[in-house]
Amino acid sequence: MRRLSKLALDRRRKGLVELLLPPAAETLRGTLRERYVTCGKPGCKCARGERHGPLWDLSVTLGSGRTAGGVMAAEQVERVRRWIENYHQIQEHLEKISAIHRELLRRERLPKRR
Ligand SMILES: [Zn+2]
Repeated sequence: MRRLSKLALDRRRKGLVELLLPPAAETLRGTLRERYVTCGKPGCKCARGERHGPLWDLSVTLGSGRTAGGVMAAEQVERVRRWIENYHQIQEHLEKISAIHRELLRRERLPKRR
């Protein structure tokens, strides 16, 4: 990072912002978990260990110990996965943009050479 020119850093930042924008409209923060269950009916295959599933639980922490989410319909799972993946990618891009800004700020503070 320190060896890159300001122009190179600006270009890199611009590239990151462009990567950020298209998926930003399709994001979801949360965790998707796979679950297999027993139904309790006597004689069901699940009683013999062959559980029903998968069920897909979305879990989202809301702070102060609260969570939201619920069981997703099978046809929602692929979309939910994609939105969660987008969320994480955007976070990575934001982290890189932050690093570029830290470097640019550091350079502004350096004493100018005469
Ligand atoms: Zn069962």
